[in-house]
Amino acid sequence: MMLRSVLFFVLLVTAFFVTPGTGLHAAQMRLECPEVIGIGLPFVVRVESDEPLDRLRVEWGGKSLQVPGAGKTAVEFLLGTDVLKSKPGNETLRVIKLGLSPLAVQTSILVERRDFPEQRLTVSTEMATPPAAVQERIARENAEVRAVLSVDSPDNHLVLPLMRPVPGDVSSAYGLRRFFNGLERNAHRGLDLRAALGDPVRAASPGQIVLAADHYYGGNSVFIDHGLGVFTVYMHLEKIEVGQGDMVEAGQIIGLAGQTGRVTGPHLHLGLYVLDLAVDPAALFFAKQGQ
Ligand SMILES: [Zn+2]
Repeated sequence: MMLRSVLFFVLLVTAFFVTPGTGLHAAQMRLECPEVIGIGLPFVVRVESDEPLDRLRVEWGGKSLQVPGAGKTAVEFLLGTDVLKSKPGNETLRVIKLGLSPLAVQTSILVERRDFPEQRLTVSTEMATPPAAVQERIARENAEVRAVLSVDSPDNHLVLPLMRPVPGDVSSAYGLRRFFNGLERNAHRGLDLRAALGDPVRAASPGQIVLAADHYYGGNSVFIDHGLGVFTVYMHLEKIEVGQGDMVEAGQIIGLAGQTGRVTGPHLHLGLYVLDLAVDPAALFFAKQGQ
């Protein structure tokens, strides 16, 4: 599923356990993950076992993820940190192999600070400081998004590297410290890609449409569930061309680029979420091409 060349693995942890009761059997589980990761960057974790894996529970950043083993001896999944919600410092990754002879391994990953540039944008007053009349709408939409992004579906559809949803270059990178009309707002938790009004927008990876809605800040937005807590989000669309519940392939058109919501012009905002943490999608597009 995963392209291991995309990301750099440096840490190996091996754990030996004696099965209670028999005392004869030593089970083994090996964990591969980065030792150090820049804040906001996604990374792949690989777990190998000498016995078929039933299911795993992964604990990371105060969240937990259920990963089906499906009888295989190795599984991979994506984790990451969020420029807004995570903090630099050591973060514990714990993987528990559930089943008849449970095993657990844990390690510490150093989340490194990164410096992000400032970006100053001018938008309409009601987009910089929403009037009281729309606060309820914004709160309701935030709750809807949180509910969608907190699901960890067991079917893993994710294919890496991600496919570019539009051909345009990056116009605003992940992590920018943003000021709207001079007022500091949340950091940019996605990637803006250049797109003209009406350009087709394509799914970055296979998955299921779990939300297609018109939101105050995001405008017309599509959320795709790729399984195991991973989602891609496409915002500011002129038109949505999929419906909630649809399964889509990588490269399938999901809508047309536009300038709905809080924007200064037409573009595509692409978000990548892992366990409700907004991570930088760029690392999963560009590393292979060396861009
Ligand atoms: Zn954006």
